[in-house]
Amino acid sequence: MTTPVIGVLALQGDVREHLIALATADALARPVRRPEELAEVDGLVIPGGESTTISKLADLFGMREPVRERIAAGMPVYGTCAGMIMLADKILDPRSDQESFGGIDMIVRRNAFGRQNESFESAVEVAGVAGGPVEGVFIRAPWVESVGARVEVLAEHEGHIVAVRQDNALATSFHPELTGDHRLHAYFTDMVRAGR
Ligand code: GLN
Repeated sequence: MTTPVIGVLALQGDVREHLIALATADALARPVRRPEELAEVDGLVIPGGESTTISKLADLFGMREPVRERIAAGMPVYGTCAGMIMLADKILDPRSDQESFGGIDMIVRRNAFGRQNESFESAVEVAGVAGGPVEGVFIRAPWVESVGARVEVLAEHEGHIVAVRQDNALATSFHPELTGDHRLHAYFTDMVRAGR
């Protein structure tokens, strides 16, 4: 089986950690900043960071429409934390008028688990990921307030949805790229392989 090429949207955030995690998960990983680079990948990761900044830079780099089009056309995409926010069809945050790429029929609440100093780690059982719970790193993390009928809930933490999948799109509130456990990147790499 050939190795899938997976891009990491490299506008802002923890791009490097995702590139390393993807390489460990047997993907050919590369940063993606421009539409020409996006055209060359089979799947895309949207990293954690600051979604308001990613959103602004997406406009500045002319990436908003190209990313939206690829997602709509079925390209596998995985968003962690800020990346999850960017994949939400609707964002709940009264202080911001930011726009997401969309792709998952869900309402996501930014900073739902609290501020930076309320960041935490917790074991999270993720449906479809074998071998026991993953270590969930939550940093100013969002949660999913509600999902549409086509969205599969993969994980919850204390009654709040923290991992979802809708067809080609995967999102987690937490950051598997910051742990040495790359099972979610392997799960996503399998999605990309299946999508080709
Ligand atoms: N709270 C950040 C945002 O709204 C996300 C934090 C993160 O990605 N660790 O974008």
